[in-house]
Amino acid sequence: MPSPCDLLVVHGRVVVMDEARTIIEDGAIAVSSGEIVAVDTSGELEARFVTGRTLDAESGIVIPGMVNLHTHLAMTVFRGVADDLHLEGFLAALWPLEQRLSAQSVRAGATAGIVESLLSGVTTALDMYFYPEEAIHVAERLGFRLVTGPVFVGANGAAFTRSHSFEEELARASSWLDSHADAGLGLRRSVGPHSTYVLHEDQIAAISELARDHGAVVHVHAAESAAEVELVLRERGARPLEVLESASALGADTVVAHAVVLEQREQEMLAARGTAVAHCPTSNLKLASGIAPVSELRARGVPVGIGTDGPASSNDLGVLPAARLAALLQKHRLGDAQAMPARDAIAMATIEGARSLGLDHLLGSIEVGKRADIVIMSASGVSAAPLHSPYSSLLYSLGKSDVRHVLVDGRLVVEDGAVTGADETEVARELSVTARQLLKG
Ligand SMILES: [Zn+2]
Repeated sequence: MPSPCDLLVVHGRVVVMDEARTIIEDGAIAVSSGEIVAVDTSGELEARFVTGRTLDAESGIVIPGMVNLHTHLAMTVFRGVADDLHLEGFLAALWPLEQRLSAQSVRAGATAGIVESLLSGVTTALDMYFYPEEAIHVAERLGFRLVTGPVFVGANGAAFTRSHSFEEELARASSWLDSHADAGLGLRRSVGPHSTYVLHEDQIAAISELARDHGAVVHVHAAESAAEVELVLRERGARPLEVLESASALGADTVVAHAVVLEQREQEMLAARGTAVAHCPTSNLKLASGIAPVSELRARGVPVGIGTDGPASSNDLGVLPAARLAALLQKHRLGDAQAMPARDAIAMATIEGARSLGLDHLLGSIEVGKRADIVIMSASGVSAAPLHSPYSSLLYSLGKSDVRHVLVDGRLVVEDGAVTGADETEVARELSVTARQLLKG
């Protein structure tokens, strides 16, 4: 006697991303109440389940929703305004513009960022930006998992944070976390001490303690460029990761964005603490920061996920193109074509990103008991043929335009290449109007 389910996805090449890296040819997924209840062949699940709703993957590639482990989504409003600069010049250009941000402009920027993410097959992001409640509101409406929360940027911040003392900021962050305790689709909250160059060790220690008291992820930039490391050494008397270690900020609940300039013992430190790294190759290349030692970090057991960084420094919120770049860069850096196989890069874009957020029991693979965050990529075009290996096709030849359907929590948030919760043309128009107003001042 077949059991009922809410939705059956059928006839896909299901890239499960479980420990065994299983691929099911003509695979299917049964979903009930937003949860994956069965994964098997189409024939098997069509016999086991009855449903009012079937989604035919038409022999496309089915993967877990991708995780963007480091971004600033609302910075879509500043896309293209600070190109061709080093990190220091980039920050100097952006910080005055950020003084002009309002809840409305962050909402417009976050809406565009989330729409672009969903269209790219990204279903979860660890975000760091002002007015986090605005982005959360948009994410809940569009069906996107946004892990975010209060951000601390020291004296370099926008006027609305700088007008408070650090103690006041900390108290406000604490009450924000109390009043936003239900993380909804985001599943967890985060707290973002920006970096060791804008905050002192004791401030970072207090912020990390606050995050841990609330079960939140600590999300921090560190060791992004050689110039940053030198600056922090000069001003704090220690390297960025040493400052984080002294502040007890490194732990299994911490995500360090970038980690480009690392000494051996700093790699060991990250491994010993179980701290995750968000590798942001596009941003690191565009700002000429360098190439992170991702292969070595992974070999030491450090969880590494893929980040796009903000759309002002990478200009693209797709995790798949960033994963492609990550694989190519490790091969180039090590002079070893076997470094970072396609399967490992896809793992970083999915299950390792979820693990880095402490959410791999719910996200990152297509397994029974996990939430139904599923991306169906079309594989009918010439760029997907011949399909010898789904990992190879995904990483090296498919792109954003091949994303056909996206489910988050079992809900169809992208259908036939269009977001279901917003009018993309209208979102783009509002982003352009908002960006123009911000740049005029
Ligand atoms: Zn960043």
